[in-house]
Amino acid sequence: MISLIDTHIHLDAPELSDQGVDLLPEAQQSGINRFVVPGVRVSGWSGMLALAEKTENVYLAPGLHPAYADQWNDAAASQLRELTQQSKVVAIGEIGLDGTVAIPLSQQEIVFRAQLDIALDARLPVLLHVREATGAVLTILRALGIGQRIGGIWHGFSASLPVAEELVELGFKVGVGPILLRENARKLPDAVKVLPASALVLETDFPDMTETPETLLRVAKKIAELRGVSLDEVAKATTENARQLFEL
Ligand SMILES: [Zn+2]
Repeated sequence: MISLIDTHIHLDAPELSDQGVDLLPEAQQSGINRFVVPGVRVSGWSGMLALAEKTENVYLAPGLHPAYADQWNDAAASQLRELTQQSKVVAIGEIGLDGTVAIPLSQQEIVFRAQLDIALDARLPVLLHVREATGAVLTILRALGIGQRIGGIWHGFSASLPVAEELVELGFKVGVGPILLRENARKLPDAVKVLPASALVLETDFPDMTETPETLLRVAKKIAELRGVSLDEVAKATTENARQLFEL
């Protein structure tokens, strides 16, 4: 039986109205047996914690999504610092810069850097959300040595192979998700074919990017097909990468 880890799944998404965990038994039948839930809004953090406390294989990456950077304040910062002490908290996320939302990038950057500080202090890896701000994020990661010091995952990766290679060189993993299954996907399959196995982790970003958590298995099978290796090999490598990063 294979064992897969979903490194990015929003089991607490409001549209699931507390039914997210009910989907896990079926996902587990497909071999998906550990789940990392990233933070989005400050108001979601307590619900995430409650979810992880009652669900054995659910782990947390609390943090503030750049689209909600205007929720950041001293109270949020101290709440996030406190959360890093919880045993189920394995990362800080999803954090980064998003050039497609209304909040100015300069304001997002302040919030991103503040959360990177918290992750560094807690020695936790980060889950990165980056849209139309690749160069700016790479510059920050490089300057602060985030990859070498705590590591992390570039979630929902869809950029070019040179960017993927730079990320790997900086000490990051590439989060491969449902974008790989798109008919018109070109850049991501090219990157997935040649990146070192040690750089790849799996994610669904459910329910944003796909309708079911079992899509993770389809992503793993697609990676195996592209690399010309067995599903078992992909499962072993990606699971080991996620286990090492999150210390699971
Ligand atoms: Zn997400």
